[in-house]
Amino acid sequence: MQKRNEYITLDFFRIIGAFLIVAIHTSPLASINSTADFIVTRIFARIAVPFFLMVTGYFILPTYIHSKTDGRYKIISFLKKTCQLYGFAILLYLPIMVYNGYFKETGILTIIQDIFLNGTFYHLWYLPGAITGILLLWLLLNHVKPQTVLGTTLILYCFGLLGDSYFGLIEGIPVINSLYKFLFVIFEYTRNGLFYAPVFLMLGAVLAINKRNVMKGNPRIGLILSLLLMTCEGLLLHTFDIQRHDSMYVTLLPVMYYLFQTLLSMRVCSENLKGYWLLNFMGPVRSKDLRFISMVIYIFHPLGIILIRGFSKVTGLEYLFITNSVIHFLSVSLLSYLVAVFCFYCRLLLNKEMPYPKSRAWLELSINNLHHNVQVLTSLLPHNCHIMGVVKANAYGHGDIRVSRELNKMGISTFAVATIAEAIHLRKHKIKGDILVFGYTHPKDFKYLVKYNLTQTIVDYDYARTLSTFGSRIKVHIKIDTGMHRLGESFENLHNIEEIYHLAGLKITGIYSHLSVSDSYLEADITFTQTQISSFFNTMDKLEEKGIDTGKIHIQSSYGLLNYPELACDYARIGIALYGVLSAPDKMLKEKVSLKPVLSLKARVVTVKSIKKGETVSYGRDFTAPDTMVIAVVSIGYADGIPRNLNNGSLLIKGMKAPIVGRICMDQLMIDITRIPNIGQDDVVTIIGTDGQLTITAEEVAAECGTITNELLSRLSERLKRVFI
Ligand SMILES: *Cc1c(COP(=O)(O)O)cnc(C)c1O
Repeated sequence: MQKRNEYITLDFFRIIGAFLIVAIHTSPLASINSTADFIVTRIFARIAVPFFLMVTGYFILPTYIHSKTDGRYKIISFLKKTCQLYGFAILLYLPIMVYNGYFKETGILTIIQDIFLNGTFYHLWYLPGAITGILLLWLLLNHVKPQTVLGTTLILYCFGLLGDSYFGLIEGIPVINSLYKFLFVIFEYTRNGLFYAPVFLMLGAVLAINKRNVMKGNPRIGLILSLLLMTCEGLLLHTFDIQRHDSMYVTLLPVMYYLFQTLLSMRVCSENLKGYWLLNFMGPVRSKDLRFISMVIYIFHPLGIILIRGFSKVTGLEYLFITNSVIHFLSVSLLSYLVAVFCFYCRLLLNKEMPYPKSRAWLELSINNLHHNVQVLTSLLPHNCHIMGVVKANAYGHGDIRVSRELNKMGISTFAVATIAEAIHLRKHKIKGDILVFGYTHPKDFKYLVKYNLTQTIVDYDYARTLSTFGSRIKVHIKIDTGMHRLGESFENLHNIEEIYHLAGLKITGIYSHLSVSDSYLEADITFTQTQISSFFNTMDKLEEKGIDTGKIHIQSSYGLLNYPELACDYARIGIALYGVLSAPDKMLKEKVSLKPVLSLKARVVTVKSIKKGETVSYGRDFTAPDTMVIAVVSIGYADGIPRNLNNGSLLIKGMKAPIVGRICMDQLMIDITRIPNIGQDDVVTIIGTDGQLTITAEEVAAECGTITNELLSRLSERLKRVFI
């Protein structure tokens, strides 16, 4: 975390650097004032390329300086990547070069020269430049000390200066003049991989190595002063017409040093970058993404210039997009940026390494059945009562995001989860509407209740007081204990409940209770439930008598609704029934409803083998073959959520029942397929669901394991892929 934040300012500045390069090639202020444009594009924007070189040096070289064997790989990998990128860029601009007649007038020698030294398109010189620079430093660092290398690169830079901004000084000296003339036959400019790139690469490396010796004083002052000096230098050289080219200045060196120190001294939390740059549709923005974006802007923008020009010609809007240099710059920048974002998403989609979801063990989830269940359950609700979709525990194993989205499509806009983390997860995936947190939220996490606009359950009177002192008004539902003796303030403490309503720090939007035996048909249990119901509604009446607006009220969960559908509530909190499953077969069910299970659980046959009479299967050798038999190994185990005590259960394969043999392992289990012919690798095995004429329900599996479906389903693991059909 720490490490990442440290570099985020560098990565952030890459984007600015990329736009500065666009500025160099579009001269944004040219149509307004030529001096201003000179200052911006020929002086200020000259920091962009050195910045990119310094970052390269900063990350690539220090390892090599410390250890030649470790560092080699970094250098080689950088060279490889840059060559690939350069190759791609050459191909991208090839059609334009052909169109411009480049190959008609250019000899093979010049082509080679362009590829290796000058770049095949005007902006591409940077890539061969960086490659040459790194190669040169690699060679130098191999033989001499880093300080000597830095000194050498400085001398090379001075030599370059005389062929660039300071050419006027030596132009008149015949020997030196002819030396440079000779150089210019080989290189177009001294701004290249030999005289220009090495010093910045090395400066980056030196800064990285001396990172620990934090600079004393404020680098920003140094930055401002050196920028001022660079402006004077550039303007003077320009006025006296000394420049042959304008990319190298003496003061560029201190400017780059202070700029880098300034960026490194800025502590920006990467959190702050979320939500910017159009990049956050698929998760938080990482530093790496900014690197990619700036690189695409750099590679693409000359094409952007051509496209904008073509577009203005066709539409006759040249006065706007070409003549007005500011709009020209902005439109090229915007186009390049959008292309970069587009490439970013394409890459994200292409790079998604997703194993085939049905390759091992998976859940098939029927959206149709979910819709059906919502319809059936809605028809039971009294007027003005709505379903609160209970999607805790990953929607009982079904996948909370997709289920919530589907419920939302069906008009359900209130959700409930057990924990604050589950609620945040929903919000991060853009689930709107009210979200009620059933469980206790720690005071350290109260801030998230506000930030994500969540509703918290008040678990008792004391908790209400703690919540009310938080500072911002937190939305809450009060929980009343009417006999479950789990969460909630007892209905008997009416005074406390009343006081909670008067706490200024809370925004009370609801009140609820929970039934403990609404699924039982025993006389005593029904009486108990009725007592709970009347305790709850009496409390509501008493509160209303005192002029309190109770907010939304609710008491039924799935069985509450199925067995006591007439209650006049605002919500019914439905969990298990939404998923088309009942908790267990022996529960009371007053309303006969035709729910359809949403989920099937499947896995594959990994291998088939014969075993002889007396041989044993799996851990503990619990199972001994009574005779020669054939077994199949199935790719699912208890780590996927299959209870280990399903040992005596059966699975379905090819429409037949196959008993589990031996102990269930973490990732596999074995079944007896002696009586089922033609089973082979990859065949599908059904643990819950239908295969041919046979069905195994979640209720049956749960009963076999001595539990209820709620437990079985909610423990289905993340490792299972969820396939919606
Ligand atoms: C889990 C839960 C529900 C949903 O119960 P189901 O029986 O699955 O419908 C309702 N209310 C509370 C408080 C719960 O914890």
